[in-house]
Amino acid sequence: MKTEDVKLIDAKGIRLDGRKIDELRPIKIESGVLHRADGSCYLEWGGNKVFAAVYGPREAIPRHTQNPLRAIVNAKYNMAAFSVEDRKRPGPDRRSREISKVISEALEKVILTEQFPRSMIDVAIEVLDAEAGTRCAGLTAAGVALADAGIPMIDIPVGCAAGKIGGKVVLDLGKEEDNFGDADVPLGISPRTGEIILLQMDGHLTFDEFNTALDYAIEGCNKVSKLQKEALLRKYDTIKEGK
Ligand code: ADP
Repeated sequence: MKTEDVKLIDAKGIRLDGRKIDELRPIKIESGVLHRADGSCYLEWGGNKVFAAVYGPREAIPRHTQNPLRAIVNAKYNMAAFSVEDRKRPGPDRRSREISKVISEALEKVILTEQFPRSMIDVAIEVLDAEAGTRCAGLTAAGVALADAGIPMIDIPVGCAAGKIGGKVVLDLGKEEDNFGDADVPLGISPRTGEIILLQMDGHLTFDEFNTALDYAIEGCNKVSKLQKEALLRKYDTIKEGK
């Protein structure tokens, strides 16, 4: 099948899965789901299924990695072998190293790392089912897991992508849209301040299209941010009620 054969959006602006151009896929977030981690989150975002687990802050090892002024943040993104249609070769690859790096850097911008000198905070992100947008889903799950672990942050980080399909800028690309679309712009923000903590782009956009995509992605982030807080409050209520 050729790319131009795939009609991703119709004349009324309705997409293959029935969504409007500025509509997110369904999202479900649960916090505190893993009992052996200091904080955790399970997130479903469309067909994506992601776990995030936080360990620390604890003494950084090996000791030469310690920073006397602040904690180091190690996010590790991994896609399970069964998360995609063709079995993925287990273990790290270029893509997962890149995603781990950009997520670690995004988290460092919101965590008050200077409160924990010589420490490390590990964040394991495991993608069980991948259907495009997993780095944003991973960052979003990591944000909830960090809050669940009680790690002090200026804000709960959140991610959401926008992109371009069939010549139109749209929010939150699904699998076919990612494969056959024109561009993908994953974004991570600190929603309270609006600071951009992650921004990448795959494909081509004009300056105006890029600005529209950015506006859509920020709007998406703000919606997902509400769901993160609701998930954390649900867990807090459960503890308070002794359930
Ligand atoms: P993101 O998941 O953040 O959108 P990419 O744009 O790199 O990151 O990947 C898009 C989608 O492509 C993934 O969500 C996944 O569904 C699929 N994909 C990524 N890597 C592989 C792989 N090694 N094998 C099969 N599918 C993959």
